[in-house]
Amino acid sequence: MIIDGKAIAAQIKEEVKRKVELLEKKPRLDVIIVGDDAASAVYVRNKQAACAYTGIKSEVHALPASTSQEDVLALVRQLNECEDVSGILVQLPLPKHINEQAVICAISPQKDVDCFHPENVGRVSIGAPRFKPCTPAGIIELLKRSEIKMEGTLAVVIGRSNIVGKPLSSLLLAENATVITCHSKTANLAAIARQADILCAAVGKPKFVTADMVKEGAVVIDVGIHETGVFTQSGKRKMCGDVDFDNIVGKVSAITPVPGGVGPTTVAMLMKNCVASVVR
Ligand code: NAP
Repeated sequence: MIIDGKAIAAQIKEEVKRKVELLEKKPRLDVIIVGDDAASAVYVRNKQAACAYTGIKSEVHALPASTSQEDVLALVRQLNECEDVSGILVQLPLPKHINEQAVICAISPQKDVDCFHPENVGRVSIGAPRFKPCTPAGIIELLKRSEIKMEGTLAVVIGRSNIVGKPLSSLLLAENATVITCHSKTANLAAIARQADILCAAVGKPKFVTADMVKEGAVVIDVGIHETGVFTQSGKRKMCGDVDFDNIVGKVSAITPVPGGVGPTTVAMLMKNCVASVVR
């Protein structure tokens, strides 16, 4: 089975849209983007489009790359105070002279729809989430809506970033999987990966997971997203993930493609968090 992330994301957004229609106070997402990183601009446009579709109000604050940390923090504080704003998202990465952690920590935890604030991270790890981390929560939805059982399975997560690997391990644990989190210092990584019933790759390295690292019949979730040097017939640059999809697809029971797998559900889960920001 090739897990259709686009279709699942469309379902989630449809559900969000119906919920928003019933809300008296509509959510409003304010996005801060600093600098002119092309990929970040695309991500922000996708978020705006999802907001427009679901009926969530959105504002983008585009600041020049030279903006000081103090000015970014001042804007965050202003949005924290603004009653109309229910969700605040700072698009990462920020320019090097700005301390990302300082900015994340300045966002009111009640408005932190990306679920990056330490308070919200802590709540996820004790099993009492206010918001759910978007990419990991999207992966859980992909598994649930594809009727893939997590309880009792061995899940191996390659990667321990604060954005993907660690929170994904927390959410899989909450679903009663037995979880092993691997990283760049893990010994015998391939042997550990080969035991996984559910293998999640969030490494940031193209085609890192090869066929010999995957058990026959396993479920493979590919979080990575990379541009390749190859172009499609329509002139678009082809993408690939952290998994060597072509050589693995024949041996697994289910796998997410890149693009069209994990990516679309990340934005859909952000929309869910925006609803949670007004429904207490
Ligand atoms: P990251 O912050 O760079 O973290 C990568 C992780 O992989 C680190 O924990 C690192 O270990 C580990 N790693 C690196 N080399 C390794 C190796 N040789 N063996 C084992 N582990 C290794 O990346 P990220 O933010 O988690 O993102 C991972 C990928 O997902 C990227 O391609 C990113 O673009 C993509 N992504 C996609 C979405 C989406 O919505 N689809 C969202 C976020 C990210 P150490 O901790 O030891 O350094």
